[in-house]
Formats: sequence, C-alpha cells, structure tokens
Amino acid sequence: MKKQIAVLPGDGIGAEVAESATAVLQAVGHKFGHEFKFKKGLIGGCAIDETGTPLPDETLETCRNSDAILLGAVGGYKWDTLPSEQRPEKGLLKLRKSLDLFANLRPVTVFESLADASTLKFDIVNGVDLMIVRELTGGLYFGEPSERRGDAVVDTLAYTRQEIERIVRKGFELAQVRRKRLTSVDKANVLESSRMWREIVEEIAPEYPDVEYAHRLVDDAAMQLIRNPKQFDVIVTENLFGDILSDEASMMTGSLGMLPSASLSADGPGLYEPVHGSAPDIAGQGKANPLAMILSAAMMLKYSFHLDDEAEMIENAVVNVLKAGYRTPDIAEKDAKLVSTTEMTEQVVSAL
Ligand code: NAD
Repeated sequence: MKKQIAVLPGDGIGAEVAESATAVLQAVGHKFGHEFKFKKGLIGGCAIDETGTPLPDETLETCRNSDAILLGAVGGYKWDTLPSEQRPEKGLLKLRKSLDLFANLRPVTVFESLADASTLKFDIVNGVDLMIVRELTGGLYFGEPSERRGDAVVDTLAYTRQEIERIVRKGFELAQVRRKRLTSVDKANVLESSRMWREIVEEIAPEYPDVEYAHRLVDDAAMQLIRNPKQFDVIVTENLFGDILSDEASMMTGSLGMLPSASLSADGPGLYEPVHGSAPDIAGQGKANPLAMILSAAMMLKYSFHLDDEAEMIENAVVNVLKAGYRTPDIAEKDAKLVSTTEMTEQVVSAL
C-alpha cells in the first residue's frame, strides 16, 4: 500500500513526539511492505514565526492532498500574549473546520502495568477500554452570536439535524466493531438541543439492531465515569460535553502522555494527534512520553487505511514495552527503567 501522510510537528514536544510516530510508522511499513511518504507542514507558533499565520495555505493544501494527517501539538509561552485571533491554537481550529473533521474519537485504554498510575483505585480502572466520540465542529464552540452586550453575554448552542445524525451514526458504527454498547450523553431535561439529539438517536437506533444503546444525562455520565467506568463501551456526545468528559476519562490512564485521538470527516483525510498539548515545561529535554503520539499513528492505520493487523502490532508493542518496565518520567514509578523520548521510541520499534 502507498500512502502520503502529512506530518505537522507543531511546537514544543510536538516536534519530538512526531518524530517518534514517523519512526514507528516507517518500521511497520517496512515490515509489511507499505510505502508511507511523509510530507511536512507548518502549524501553530512555528508557522506564525515563519509566515505570520498559524495555518498557512500551503499546509492546508498539503493536508488536503494527503491520505491522513499526523499532528504533534501547538502553542507555547512565546505566543501566549498574542490576541486570540492570531494564536497558535487558531491554526488547529481552522484545520479541523476546513477539513470538516466532525468526529473526534478519544479511546481511553488502561494498560494493566500502568493502572497504579491512575488517581482512581486499581480495581476501578484496571481493564477500562472505552471510546468517547465527541462532535467537534458544532455546538457552543462555533454558535453565533457569541458576544458581550454591555453587562450581558451570550453564547449560542446550535446544531442542525444533519450534524447530529452523522455523529450519532459514527457512534453506532464504532460500537458495532467494538463491544456493541452505545451510551448517548445529553442534557435532555434542560436543553432543547439535547431533546432533539435524543429524538435523533431514537430514530437512528433501529438501523443498528445489534447495538445496545442507552441515554444518560451528562451530570450522571460524569459521575458514572469515575464510579464504574468499565460499564462503558462507546459514548457519543456533543462538543462541550465531550470535551469535559474526555478530559475526565483521561485521568484513568494516569498521564496525558498516554492518550491518542483521531478526528474524522465524512470522506476526507483524518487527523491523528495526541490529546496533550505542546508541554513547554518539558520541551527539548527528552522527557516527553511519545506513546500517545505512537498510539495515534496506530489509530491512523486502523481508521484511515484499514490496516488492522499493523495497528494491532503497534498496540502490542506498546503493551510489551510497558510490561518490560520502560517508563518516561510522567509514568515512572519507583524502580522503573527510566527512558528518554528517543529511547522509548527505540524500545517500541524493537518490540515490533
Ligand atoms: P499540556 O498538555 O501541554 O501539558 C500539561 C502537563 O502535562 C504538563 O505538565 C506537561 O509537561 C505534561 N505533559 C503533556 N504531554 C506530555 C507528554 N507527552 N509526556 C509527558 N508529560 C506530558 O497542556 P498545557 O500545559 O495546558 O498547555 C501547553 C500549551 O499547549 C498551551 O499553549 C496550550 O494552548 C497548548 N495545547 C495544545 C493542544 C493541541 O495542540 N492539541 C492541546 C492542549 C494544549
């Protein structure tokens, strides 16, 4: 298989972990006879420095002409004082919007050898394997108006039927290839948008008779996630609820450095990135955990290229490296074999 992958390292540790992911992809490609061609692009703070804008047209063009996109992270102290319209994060928002990446997939998998790293009890988190499917291009983040009116303020939560239908379908489809359980999260006791969301879930559910589904209010879902997270398989929800619930769920793994993500559109290239940011506090020190980015590359193989065996090989390599006790500082317990970003990457490559 021949594929072009746009690589946007971004800022801070983004560049460090992007290198790890391309090294792992190259090794997998070599093993299975695939040709992955990497084309680099600028995004975020480094793009502002070089071109004056956080998402240059050239980068967007590269992404549009690629089969998938790997992104490190954007942002850093240097650009923190810029007006919000010119900040590095705007580049990422624009990229998601331009490519219509409406479905954000955030798997939360607790590896047994790391279950002690969570702030929750071992028995509660050990074995957790859930996926949050967050709507990414609508809702409060993009609704107009969003403005101050003297001493009043307004934000708008807007969705179209089509926007809700496509994300709900994505939730059902993912549940079908997992453990066939879907939880739709809303706030239907208060919000009209949630009542319409719930109606649409009911309309679509008969198309997926093999999937067992349930509705939960977001406050209840937040509580259930830390009470008994193993009850969940796929959770589908709107933009703001998904943002909050996925950060809550992320703590089960103990470190942001372990969490991959995918953002998918209907038919264009998918975007794969770690959940964490550019971590300016540890940038350039070889301390970044590359596993979130490496697992994002595995998601790319699975969801964009349908290379399930190759993806599984990466996931197994990560499990084995963790079992063997290798740890970057963010997940290191006493007596761990402490390794740098590049050493961790080398361990994964040799475990493949
Ligand atoms: P962050 O995720 O960068 O870091 C939070 C904490 O987690 C830091 O202590 C950091 O050292 C640690 N951490 C994060 N990733 C790690 C990894 N792979 N290995 C080891 N430790 C890791 O969040 P922040 O500090 O709130 O934000 C820093 C910058 O990143 C800001 O400019 C922010 O806007 C940006 N940001 C970007 C994205 C993105 O590009 N998708 C996401 C979140 C934040």
